[in-house]
Amino acid sequence: MWLGRQIWEKNKKGFGEGQCARCGEYCNLTIDHFIPRSKVTVGMNKNHNGNLIGLCKSCNQEKADRIVTPDWYQYLSEERKENLKRYMRYTRSTIRNKTDDPEVLEYLDNL
Ligand SMILES: [Zn+2]
Repeated sequence: MWLGRQIWEKNKKGFGEGQCARCGEYCNLTIDHFIPRSKVTVGMNKNHNGNLIGLCKSCNQEKADRIVTPDWYQYLSEERKENLKRYMRYTRSTIRNKTDDPEVLEYLDNL
């Protein structure tokens, strides 16, 4: 079993039933990658705990492979939002190259 898979399993158990970080619905959560897997570059750990968030299926599909700001997750705790901000600071230059969303770019400028 490769490491990414182990972390996935661990986190899947950790998520299970819970509150969707976007819409607040309580359901069986799917794993969202804050920085989408398709946009992760060498040297970034896509399965870093800070990169994994529990979303309901429809919110996960809505987000798809976009990069969003931490505020997109309306039901995420302030502590987790701070973690996402730290993660964004750390990966700022990568994110800039992977999105043209003006809201995200402005957010990065003010981090
Ligand atoms: Zn949802």
